[in-house]
Amino acid sequence: MKTDVLVVGGGIAGAAVSYYLAQEGVDVVLIEARDLNTQASGTNAGSIHVQIQHPEFVSMGAGWARSYGPTLRLLMASQALWLGLSDELGVDLDVRLTGGLLVATTPAQMQAIEAKAVIERGFGVDIEMLDRDALRQRAPYLTADAIGAGFCPGEGKANPLKATRAFAAAAQKMGAKIITETRMTALEPTRGGYLAQTERGPIAARRVVNAAGAAAADVARMLGLNIELQGFPLQVTVTEPVATMIPHLVYSAAGKLSAKQALNGTCLIGGGWPARLRADGSLATDPASLAGNMVNAARVIPALARARAVRSWTAVVNGTADWRPIIGEASGQPGFFLSLFPWMGFSAGPMTARLTADLVVGRAPRLSLKGISVLAD
Ligand SMILES: Cc1cc2nc3c(=O)[nH]c(=O)nc-3n(C[C@H](O)[C@H](O)[C@H](O)COP(=O)(O)OP(=O)(O)OC[C@H]3O[C@@H](n4cnc5c(N)ncnc54)[C@H](O)[C@@H]3O)c2cc1C
Repeated sequence: MKTDVLVVGGGIAGAAVSYYLAQEGVDVVLIEARDLNTQASGTNAGSIHVQIQHPEFVSMGAGWARSYGPTLRLLMASQALWLGLSDELGVDLDVRLTGGLLVATTPAQMQAIEAKAVIERGFGVDIEMLDRDALRQRAPYLTADAIGAGFCPGEGKANPLKATRAFAAAAQKMGAKIITETRMTALEPTRGGYLAQTERGPIAARRVVNAAGAAAADVARMLGLNIELQGFPLQVTVTEPVATMIPHLVYSAAGKLSAKQALNGTCLIGGGWPARLRADGSLATDPASLAGNMVNAARVIPALARARAVRSWTAVVNGTADWRPIIGEASGQPGFFLSLFPWMGFSAGPMTARLTADLVVGRAPRLSLKGISVLAD
């Protein structure tokens, strides 16, 4: 088989890159080792983040936050894309951007939120500081111990079960070919581009996009490239449906938490809690993480203490140590592109893909990647 662009990976990054390329009339084949949307993109917590995550601000500090700042522009641009995606793709993706609340229960936490907000505002992110009364008015469901919060209006949620499949369906409609249950096992440069070996035979491509998520370093290694990206096992929990009470994406300044309520009433509780990796490579939920996550959730949203958790699941997130994305053409490998946004790649997926497609067709990216992608430094 021959194609102009071979996209490796059928998560949100690969499906969206295929969509944007097919929309421009580019001949695209997407190859996915399993089924579409079965890894991080279909198993994540569905938060649309714009702000710097508070636990990382606390652990890595203001200097790191300032160096990460330009990446907030990509997250904001992606949030703007999310707003129009349901109409564009013709599928209701349950996008609700009603704002994120980072809740404080101590003065020290308020100070840290304010310090983070100063940096975020410097990169154009709108963060409003709410005192106890303003918070109580806006979010009466929060603990009475809350003394204030940072409110980020653009944040919210979308449905991870729908988004990647909607991108893939729209890409297919525009002529992209999607091959599932087929792993790429080797990749080598040729005179006209690349030759991929797959479980169903070779594919010759002029250009290749590595959108393999947590396995992207393995794919890059096929060409002898080392990239600083790894997989980290995480877990998320969902409760039974409860009365509608949480319109926001809720975080805690006391520890790892993201909590939100889906349209069917269930509450999704996560925030980066680790799952266990068994010796055979399979994943298992970690009871200590479950307990820690639920305690944090119930401390901030007391009604959650009465909601029964019905299921926890695990998945591997693509992570980089400094949280910065890897987007662009690999140096020394013309025509080999990386489309990798770590940790918050669901939120950033649409814009990461849009920028990758710009680069693949040889255009300047619509948002400069300087200071954002490690490949653009
Ligand atoms: C539990 C959890 C919760 C999360 N919560 C959030 C959240 O709330 N908000 C947010 O923004 N982000 C969240 N994330 C992060 C986000 O889900 C990921 O960053 C994002 O989905 C990455 O998308 P991707 O397309 O790059 O990777 P993936 O969705 O992992 O897709 C990569 C695909 O590549 C395929 N592949 C790999 N190697 C090969 C090969 N050799 N040949 C063919 N195919 C291959 C894989 O099978 C996979 O389907 C969370 C992640 C996890 C795990």
